[in-house]
Amino acid sequence: MSTRIPTRVLAGAIAALGLGVGPIAAAPAPGPAFTLQGGQHLRIISGYLRDGPGTAVRGFVRRDPLWSGSVRGHLHITAYAATGEAIDRQATTWSGRFTESHGPPLPYRAELKVARADVARIDVAFAPGRHTASESFE
Ligand SMILES: [Zn+2]
Repeated sequence: MSTRIPTRVLAGAIAALGLGVGPIAAAPAPGPAFTLQGGQHLRIISGYLRDGPGTAVRGFVRRDPLWSGSVRGHLHITAYAATGEAIDRQATTWSGRFTESHGPPLPYRAELKVARADVARIDVAFAPGRHTASESFE
């Protein structure tokens, strides 16, 4: 009986940290599938469409825990229609810098120019260095 409260406190703490893997609230409406492809020393740990109007992609990245150096790169976000056609591409970067070896994940965000109803799949992929206009997404 005395173990019930600590268990609930722990579950709440995990949920508050956003680390829960199971469904915590009611299942959301099905959204696009995400493919997260990190690279070098960056791991892309999440990607989702933000609730509300517009088509804002958000998520978090973190540095490889075995790597304490800098991570130079950015993210390519590609949205695909149900037909498999790429309908939008955006480049973005994560906010903030990796300073501590076990620091928190850093957020990223990109605004897609297509309606969310048209998006069936979203790829988020690491790309090295800075994004240039001539750079291919493929
Ligand atoms: Zn790029």
